[in-house]
Amino acid sequence: MPAEIIKSEFIISKHGFSTRNGGVSTGVYSSLNLGLNRGDDEEKVKRNWELFLEACGIDGQPFVCGNQVHGKYVHIATKKDLRPPYGKGNVVEADGFVTNEPGVPLAIFTADCVPVLLEDTKNKIIGAVHCGWRSAVADIEGEGLNKMLSLGAETDEIRIAIGPAIEKCCFEVGPEVVEALRDLLKEDAEPFVVPRGDKYMVDLKGAVRQRFIQLGVKPWNIDIIDGCTLCEPDRFWSHRYTGGVRGSQASVIMLS
Ligand SMILES: [Zn+2]
Repeated sequence: MPAEIIKSEFIISKHGFSTRNGGVSTGVYSSLNLGLNRGDDEEKVKRNWELFLEACGIDGQPFVCGNQVHGKYVHIATKKDLRPPYGKGNVVEADGFVTNEPGVPLAIFTADCVPVLLEDTKNKIIGAVHCGWRSAVADIEGEGLNKMLSLGAETDEIRIAIGPAIEKCCFEVGPEVVEALRDLLKEDAEPFVVPRGDKYMVDLKGAVRQRFIQLGVKPWNIDIIDGCTLCEPDRFWSHRYTGGVRGSQASVIMLS
């Protein structure tokens, strides 16, 4: 069985969001675990990366990924940042990457957080951003967009695909998250926040989309892919569902 990936019709570059399916890992990592440091067997993870990249149309290449720290730093990646899984070299502490270099796949890991792929087809600039709530309220959306603009992207040309993540059915948070979201989105936050008891249900995918719209991205250029990581444990890893004992999804994009 080939690796099961999800694509967005909004993105023309080679890309994909992974699922759990079609890899070689076993047990809690069954089967397409792409996380490099979750305790899985290295050889299996390497094979999973081959299968995933192949399914995305990216053959046998190293890629760029970082140590994700739920911050807002977005790194401008070049060929120098390319590494095979478990390969040697500096690993940047970053929750997002952008590049204008062809042949440089950008990868981010998620398991409830919102994966975001960005593309300016006209100016040939791409990005991949790991958008958990901490990064989202820190405005990694604006950071990612600014880094793309610094390479010559135009906001009007940017298309965005928001991938599988924990959805409003399951993303229960405390008031501190809602407060931070209101600080970021101002009055636009309310449609994405539903009180439930002394907690709130938050639509983080919707909130991330709204932030990009505030930043000038055209609403019709933003795709939201259905799929709640917590509701579909056979298809996705959810950090909350598994209590953290799990593999990871990855999302990748590459300019040809
Ligand atoms: Zn759900």
